[in-house]
Amino acid sequence: NYHVLLAENRKLFNEIQELRGNIRVYCRIRPFLPGQREKRTIVEYIGENGELVVANPSKPGKEGNRLFKFNKVFGPAATQAEVFSDTQPLIRSVLDGYNVCIFAYGQTGSGKTHTMSGPSGATKENWGVNYRALNDLFSISQSRRSSIMYEIGVQMVEIYNEQVRDLLSSDVSFVSLDLHTLGILTHTQPNGLAVPDASMHSVKSISDVTDYMEIGLKNRAVGATALNDRSSRSHSVVTIHVRGLDLKTGSALHGNLHLVDLAGSERVDRSEVVGDRLKEAQHINKSLSALGDVIFALAQKSSHVPYRNSKLTQVLQSSLGGQAKTLMFVQLNPDVVSYSESLSTLKFAERVSGVELGAARSSKEGRDVRELMEQVALLKNTIAKKD
Ligand code: ADP
Ligand code: MG
Repeated sequence: NYHVLLAENRKLFNEIQELRGNIRVYCRIRPFLPGQREKRTIVEYIGENGELVVANPSKPGKEGNRLFKFNKVFGPAATQAEVFSDTQPLIRSVLDGYNVCIFAYGQTGSGKTHTMSGPSGATKENWGVNYRALNDLFSISQSRRSSIMYEIGVQMVEIYNEQVRDLLSSDVSFVSLDLHTLGILTHTQPNGLAVPDASMHSVKSISDVTDYMEIGLKNRAVGATALNDRSSRSHSVVTIHVRGLDLKTGSALHGNLHLVDLAGSERVDRSEVVGDRLKEAQHINKSLSALGDVIFALAQKSSHVPYRNSKLTQVLQSSLGGQAKTLMFVQLNPDVVSYSESLSTLKFAERVSGVELGAARSSKEGRDVRELMEQVALLKNTIAKKD
């Protein structure tokens, strides 16, 4: 009957997602900004199938060209809506009980915040992934309300110098959450709370969400001084918890979505920084490489995944690995001036995902995906006829 078909359709949909790989990497190149005078780009070529060729500005001609391969490359003209349309299927799977982690990686100024949140005070058109994701979660949960009852909750934390702070706490002193003493082991927590002591807020509409995001952003800024733009040196993690109750069978499902705006990946010249700046740089380095190691281990299907090497990977553990789906946005500033940073960003992405994206992707799989697509199309057709 109708309900069985719908459930079957959802199952197939998620199987397709799985076949496409649980780790996906999208590259996004931001446009030149209005104030930039000399606009020389390192981007040589963007292919339909995720190819990106970058040129080395100090090695003119084909010599200095390097090819990278991603699941998708978004050029400077890509809109927020276009970027989201390729992200949407992942978001949908959260409502089916999957855990999903989406994060943006790149040097400061490469567009991480733009992709994840959008410009500050963004209108709907310019919304980043965060708002669009929640908007989708609300509308899909509404459309399923006759069969599943959903509850959605939000947490927002910041990880700075290996300390976790609750950004939605009413306590302005921001108690640090010590994951060690709390013994954070997300997978053993039946309710899937990523950070047990961070406040959780129930949200019913997109305006609830924007209100909380505003509070979070304001709290995040409190620690910053004029000289110290903290937002580029801390990771911010928005966690969306979804609980669903199947009204027919009485069974419960739980999915969570981590939306992460990472600290800037730029290398800090060790000879030039001391004190707090050096400490920050070391913490960022440590956590980003820990994240890289975890994703690399997952892509290799390695038996040991080193989650415990940083707070970041501990907080994200429930949405990295296992059945969870991971999407990394690799953000690039196209300017030749940023060439060496961009290259190290690209190499990071290549390393963490190389195995998944390389030869391992067989043509058999391509066939399986196509077959499943066809089945879904048939099912959709059948459902449409019933309506
Ligand atoms: P990051 O968070 O990586 O430091 P931002 O997201 O703050 O970088 O982006 C740096 C600047 O570039 C901001 O002024 C932002 O509005 C602008 N920007 C980034 N990506 C885009 C884009 N795709 N289109 C238009 N402007 C962008
Ligand atoms: Mg930012």
